[in-house]
Amino acid sequence: MCQFCGVDPAFAAFFENTQGVPQDPSVISIQAPAKPNFFRLKPKSKTMSTESKGLQEQQLKNFQSSLSPEARVITESDGSAYTNAIRRWSKCAIKPAKAVIMPTTAEDVSKILLLAKSHTIPVAVKCGGHSPGGASSSDGGIVIDLGLMNSVSAKADEKTILVGGGALWRDVTRVASEYGLSCVSGSTSHVGVSGLTLHGGYGYLAGEHGLAVDNLVAAQVVLADGSIVWANDQDNTDLFFAIRGAGSRFGVITKLVIRAHQQRPNVWGGPLTFPGFQYENVVEALNTWYDQGDVKAAAEMVLGKGVGGQAGITIMCFYNGSEEHALVSFAPFLQLRPTINATSEMPYWRINTLSEGKEIYTDDYIRFASGNLKPPLDAQHIRKLLDSLDSLYEAVPGAEKTGCLALCIQPDGILKKKRTDMAFCWRDANFDVGIGANWSDPKDESKVIEWQNQFQKLVSQAGDDYRVYGNHEDFRGGAREFGINYLKLLQLKKKYDPSGLFRTM
Ligand SMILES: Cc1cc2nc3c(=O)[nH]c(=O)nc-3n(C[C@H](O)[C@H](O)[C@H](O)COP(=O)(O)OP(=O)(O)OC[C@H]3O[C@@H](n4cnc5c(N)ncnc54)[C@H](O)[C@@H]3O)c2cc1C
Repeated sequence: MCQFCGVDPAFAAFFENTQGVPQDPSVISIQAPAKPNFFRLKPKSKTMSTESKGLQEQQLKNFQSSLSPEARVITESDGSAYTNAIRRWSKCAIKPAKAVIMPTTAEDVSKILLLAKSHTIPVAVKCGGHSPGGASSSDGGIVIDLGLMNSVSAKADEKTILVGGGALWRDVTRVASEYGLSCVSGSTSHVGVSGLTLHGGYGYLAGEHGLAVDNLVAAQVVLADGSIVWANDQDNTDLFFAIRGAGSRFGVITKLVIRAHQQRPNVWGGPLTFPGFQYENVVEALNTWYDQGDVKAAAEMVLGKGVGGQAGITIMCFYNGSEEHALVSFAPFLQLRPTINATSEMPYWRINTLSEGKEIYTDDYIRFASGNLKPPLDAQHIRKLLDSLDSLYEAVPGAEKTGCLALCIQPDGILKKKRTDMAFCWRDANFDVGIGANWSDPKDESKVIEWQNQFQKLVSQAGDDYRVYGNHEDFRGGAREFGINYLKLLQLKKKYDPSGLFRTM
């Protein structure tokens, strides 16, 4: 008999009767937990707040004994450990979770989901913690922090990397490079593999090899009913469709098998910085550079506050080849005599760390919004964006780190997939744009967000103003995030998460 409350037969049965586990061969059986069975906690009421109150801190602490030995349950009484556990990349995302639970196995995750379900407590899943709006944080619910599930190993002969659901990209890049391989990642090494991959994943290698999500070969998923399944091209294909773009809405992904590619040890790249008044020349250079159609070349065009205090342009260059070839490719920019040229040859792993500080998390309030630009770029449009940034810098001095970043790549890799191949549907040549609104004083929030909304519209006037990239819109996109696949995903959501345990579509 449970020491806390009455019997919840459904959950007790799930753990004590293997008939509760689906018989699909790709489903792993969950072992009955050691006694006592904490899933016998009987909900007193169906409302979220009462339930959260009903599950006391001590009960959550005791729950740890039903998990693997290394798993952790962190609550407010843990002081600085709790403060660290709810910290996120953006200060906007810090929320007071009732508990942060760090599982070490998929079975642990399954037990946590069933506990949350039986007490109608909301759950959030955290990998790298980079969602600026707090999609991996919870106000009063349970955070499943996958940080202890960060193992990475390579099968070099098959060119695949097996990655734990809580790994960061730098973990993957390090292991892959030991075998002369690389994976399509984002351009910052401390972003979570799961968050970025499950919802898209634009990076320097995407022009050549497609998005990170296009390189997902298989995933182990813990579903809302607690079952643990594999999804790939053969097994649970509809789930595989759904998690490749809408992952966080369908389950907790505890393992990812990622396709790797042969990688030369050194690449060429780094920043070239130009003052805002050179915008016409820079845009012309970018269009000329892009017209060469070289999939090995990529550039991040960053619009942000320059050294003179005015909005300027930085081109973060990337060339997956020799310096000799890179200098030819990027000649249109180099001929403009940038104010800063910090380009060089460097190991592949290094290029995705160039804009990082020592700390993974910032001390800033940051929100993201998504936009896109259709090449060729229009110089007058870029001028309007720079002017808009200047007006913000003037109006809100604490917003000076605000800017936007357009990833300029050839579309070849992205167009290898069709819109209906997976939940992620945006298959076109447009440059993805992430707009990062950044402010230091909480009282400036509404002003900066209002500016961000206007700026977002302005950006996408030169792109597709319907399309939204979930990872840059903090998953608020709805139909605009999934386009042609939205209705199919609504149906699949009913099948895989009928009670809405995970994020809504
Ligand atoms: C500094 C920085 C640089 C970035 N650079 C790029 C870039 O180059 N390219 C690009 O495409 N994007 C980029 N992004 C956006 C990034 O892809 C998203 O913010 C991404 O969602 C972050 O993933 P995460 O795991 O770090 O974050 P988290 O906040 O931990 O997770 C993000 C979302 O994914 C869900 N999730 C995480 N792990 C799992 C899991 N295992 N199972 C189920 N759901 C899960 C969370 O619940 C949450 O909804 C960048 C973001 C930042 C802050």
